[in-house]
Amino acid sequence: MEYLCPVCRKVLNTEMEMCSDLVHFFASWHGKKIWRIRFLNQSAYQFFSDKQLQAMAEGQPLILANAASWEKFDAATMTGTDTSGKVTSIFE
Ligand SMILES: [Zn+2]
Repeated sequence: MEYLCPVCRKVLNTEMEMCSDLVHFFASWHGKKIWRIRFLNQSAYQFFSDKQLQAMAEGQPLILANAASWEKFDAATMTGTDTSGKVTSIFE
């Protein structure tokens, strides 16, 4: 899975090591709700906090190809509780 680092804007994939900025970034979201979004015509996924997504959606409709969210994000295991109530990886 390809995803964009929100700090350095590099496209990473799940087989690559995370850049250190990203490790800190995810750590700051520990215990919160996290969104994984793919915009139309973009191949890489992006991660957002609930607050960020709400701010983005204000006043303009978001054109999304794919959106998933997890509650109680765990930065140690990179998992969270998905919308079906199961604990799953945010990279799957
Ligand atoms: Zn980065």
